[in-house]
Amino acid sequence: MGQIRLMEENLSNKIAAGEVVERPTSVVKELVENAIDAGSTAIEVLLIEAGLTSIQIIDNGAGMDDEDALLSFSRHATSKIANEHDLFRIRTLGFRGEALASIASVSKVTLHTSTGESGTFLRLEGGRLVEHRAGSLRKGTDIKIDQLFFNTPARLKYMKTLQTELGHTIDLLNRFALSYPTISFKLAHDGKTILQTAGSGEMRRVLADIYGVSIAKKMIPFEGQSQDYKISGFASLPEITRANKNYISLFVNGRWVKHYAIANTVHQAYHTFLPLERQPIVVLNIVGDPYLTDVNVHPAKQQIRLSKEKELMELIYSSIRQTISGTVRAPVIEKEK
Ligand code: ADP
Ligand code: MG
Repeated sequence: MGQIRLMEENLSNKIAAGEVVERPTSVVKELVENAIDAGSTAIEVLLIEAGLTSIQIIDNGAGMDDEDALLSFSRHATSKIANEHDLFRIRTLGFRGEALASIASVSKVTLHTSTGESGTFLRLEGGRLVEHRAGSLRKGTDIKIDQLFFNTPARLKYMKTLQTELGHTIDLLNRFALSYPTISFKLAHDGKTILQTAGSGEMRRVLADIYGVSIAKKMIPFEGQSQDYKISGFASLPEITRANKNYISLFVNGRWVKHYAIANTVHQAYHTFLPLERQPIVVLNIVGDPYLTDVNVHPAKQQIRLSKEKELMELIYSSIRQTISGTVRAPVIEKEK
């Protein structure tokens, strides 16, 4: 008899979780993405012990009906893509249909969700459904993840200090807030509010909420357009500098991405305006046909491959450089005096 067996779904979910759910921040990221994809205008993230004890995300989005709520925890269950064509034109933050299955397999989940017409309450432990009944009719979704990694002790042991884990999540929420100024975000830790944005759509207000009023006043708006891309954002005056590139926030079609070459181009655009090795604060939104942006590189969806990269880099460089030059009196001439 052959030795090969198909894995039980719960086991394969746990394996997938190894990639998708690295730490509490990864859970917050996936759940907030779901809330954004559901059209929410207010999203609350409540953490206990940096999320290791519990992570609760409350949104006011579309919610799910009973059937969808049950299905949402199956692997590869998604409402966001239906065929191969969609995969190359992703307009939502999620698309892999595996976050909820993965998260549920390594935690205890309670879910309240409602479309406004019906309400569902579900409870899962280690990916197995343990309770299912009708629930409240408040439109939106309230999902709570308790005891993350309770059944994967090796992963739990790997967690850094609570402060480090919390730091990652604060950083993440800051980026969501910068990328979605029309959504009101709240982050609270052990009952204490850490971040609260108004969701008014005013970018300078979000900048003030995150970096403080005096920095927000020293950020200059910029925009630009090429054949395939549109960019916009805010760039700090050269008098403000930071020690690392963590203050350069890059968003491609609303998704926070890490892209070494783009961050480098932003830094280049400040060349001669900043002391060597110092970095600016920049928020850069890149908008392009989803066809040009491949986010299906890694399960965490934070890496991206871009087509027409050279055109984009030139656009970024010239837009930011022009904006910054316009605020400074010719630095080269001053040097020659
Ligand atoms: P994906 O986001 O890649 O589709 P997920 O496992 O994160 O996969 O979610 C599965 C499905 O559950 C989503 O496609 C969506 O239909 C539904 N869903 C998840 N979270 C929410 C939410 N907060 N509000 C409404 N629907 C949700
Ligand atoms: Mg998702």
